[in-house]
Amino acid sequence: MNPFNRFVVGLTGGIGSGKSTAAKYFEKLGAKVINADVVARDSVSSGSQALLKIIQHFGEKIVDKKGKLDRSKLREIIFDNSSEKLWLENLLHPIIREKIILDINNASESYVLLESPLLFETNQHKMVNVVLLIDVPEELQVIRASQRDKSTSNEIKKIIKTQMPRSEKIKLSTYVADNTKSEDDLKKQVKYYHKKFSELGRNFCNL
Ligand code: ADP
Repeated sequence: MNPFNRFVVGLTGGIGSGKSTAAKYFEKLGAKVINADVVARDSVSSGSQALLKIIQHFGEKIVDKKGKLDRSKLREIIFDNSSEKLWLENLLHPIIREKIILDINNASESYVLLESPLLFETNQHKMVNVVLLIDVPEELQVIRASQRDKSTSNEIKKIIKTQMPRSEKIKLSTYVADNTKSEDDLKKQVKYYHKKFSELGRNFCNL
């Protein structure tokens, strides 16, 4: 259960499922959205404590000439090196978690949406009251994500393999929004969930 006096909804889904699209609609309706990816990126910004530790560990080669983290190099190093991946996760996950907690505590809305592609994989689901999964079959993930990112199907399939299988995410989620239809259909579902979460949030905070 979450440690806050605020109703927190985890919004997740595999790559290309439509999370960002759903989050954008929630935001338009007035929801407070915290994006875990943005928090993660900010946590290793130039001059941050975390980046200094990363440089100490991997060497100066991990930053570019301007001192900015070379993300693709870091991804390459940890891709098939589980101990380096674990080292990095042990460093970053608590920092990211603390910042998310701070952002949640600063919110004044009746509920907060935590948008996180790796909500379950990073144990962030333990910080939330309910989870809304945006769900499409893998084939559609591949089509939509490869069009969006101008990547090949194989590149997207490789990323999908690093994420928790869809069937497990469905089992762990409180609500599942089917995003196989139009964006308009997704918008309607978001409207329904926004109303539901606002009510749940108001009851939770006794507002
Ligand atoms: P995620 O954030 O889960 O990776 P996005 O929200 O970026 O996924 O959606 C992936 C791509 O699919 C985007 O280009 C988006 O515009 C498109 N998309 C999302 N939902 C739909 C839908 N219902 N119908 C058609 N395209 C969609």
